[in-house]
Amino acid sequence: MNCTQFKAAIEALRAGEPGVAVCDQFRAHARSCPACASEFAPFLSTKCQQITDFLAEYFEGELSADQRRVFEFHMNACPECKCYLDSYRQSIQLARDCAQPAPPPPQRLIDAILAARRGQCSNG
Ligand SMILES: [Zn+2]
Ligand SMILES: [Zn+2]
Repeated sequence: MNCTQFKAAIEALRAGEPGVAVCDQFRAHARSCPACASEFAPFLSTKCQQITDFLAEYFEGELSADQRRVFEFHMNACPECKCYLDSYRQSIQLARDCAQPAPPPPQRLIDAILAARRGQCSNG
């Protein structure tokens, strides 16, 4: 990936275009290209762990506009987190269907889901 492709892909993701899942390529380019790395630092420096920490606030609508942009950008770029988001949304839906209050999931459950989903959703 060169700088032009990198910026084009970033812009596509920021515009919310689906189907661009190039997290690893972004990171590889950012490592080798300080100019791009600094230009898109808020997007590239966000780690999957931080994104999963944002999940509850995202669903509560409590993220700032900037946080939400970073969050949604990461979701577009990272299949693992996208998959996790989907399973999280489903679990919220299930909880609502059962008319039960949804307690925040314990960390070890999050870890287990993440690990399981990572296997399931691996796209090679
Ligand atoms: Zn570059
Ligand atoms: Zn991720």
